[in-house]
Amino acid sequence: MTNILNIRSITKFYGKIRALHEVSFDVPPGSVYGVLGPNGSGKTTLLGIVMDVLQSSGGEYAWFGQPPSSRHRRQIGTLLETPNFYHYLSGERNLKIAAAIKGHGEEDIPRVLETVKLTGRRHSKFSTYSLGMKQRLAIASCLLGNPSVLVFDEPTNGLDPVGIAETRQLILDLSREGKTILLASHLLDEVEKVCSHVAILQKGQLLMAGHVNEVLTNEDYVELGARDMQKLAALLSGYPGVRQVKPYEQSLQVYFEQNNADLDGINQYCFENGVVLNHLQLRKRSLESKFMELTNT
Ligand code: ADP
Repeated sequence: MTNILNIRSITKFYGKIRALHEVSFDVPPGSVYGVLGPNGSGKTTLLGIVMDVLQSSGGEYAWFGQPPSSRHRRQIGTLLETPNFYHYLSGERNLKIAAAIKGHGEEDIPRVLETVKLTGRRHSKFSTYSLGMKQRLAIASCLLGNPSVLVFDEPTNGLDPVGIAETRQLILDLSREGKTILLASHLLDEVEKVCSHVAILQKGQLLMAGHVNEVLTNEDYVELGARDMQKLAALLSGYPGVRQVKPYEQSLQVYFEQNNADLDGINQYCFENGVVLNHLQLRKRSLESKFMELTNT
């Protein structure tokens, strides 16, 4: 099936500042695709480029397998910054104004109010809404015209815990309806909870991209010790499937390519090569610490 969005080698400079460097990944239909990275990693810049708000310095992107065009952009609902709603007008009245500005009819309004669960409060003034309701109204505004794709930049930023939970649930509901959603977030927890796919950015570079289940997994590692640590380190570097050997306090930490640590095999290999282990333990590295290390925050 054609990808909703292909991003190929996108690079962006702001003067001398390189905000993105050769970023490439594909957004499949029906996915909730998270662009995850700490502040300043280039997430907003990337969304701005694919929404044609910013011009890239290099690279290409395609929506629905086609070069970008205004016809395709009409199939995309975006929430890149907080919309300016009128505080003294009702939620429904605000949506009527948004529909007029976007060139949509008013016939969609009851449906989008229902989707974001604001039908019962449609006549209340915007100023009386909770933070979560305000954000849900903003999302309702993106849903006018029934776009098949939604692009959200940090959709839960600045919300209280109830608002965060409501917004995340709404994103999951929209995904169940079949929408493809591209969202930027600096929160690992958010991406784990709502996304099917993730692209991790660090200082404008793509570190990893793919299924959340493949990218955001807890990682096994083996901690080892022996009297001659230098010999042990040299030996382990030659063990099949070893990705990295790291000294840690009085021991070594060993990471494997396929996350398949075989304790018996390692023990036997060390012994047969003249090193007797005095410490051997399987440990799990939390996703949190893996993300911190990946993004170096
Ligand atoms: P994020 O959304 O991940 O926080 P941004 O895309 O906002 O990251 O920023 C990426 C980098 O580009 C940062 O170093 C930021 O300071 C820089 N940057 C963003 N916008 C501008 C701009 N208009 N002018 C100069 N530098 C910018």
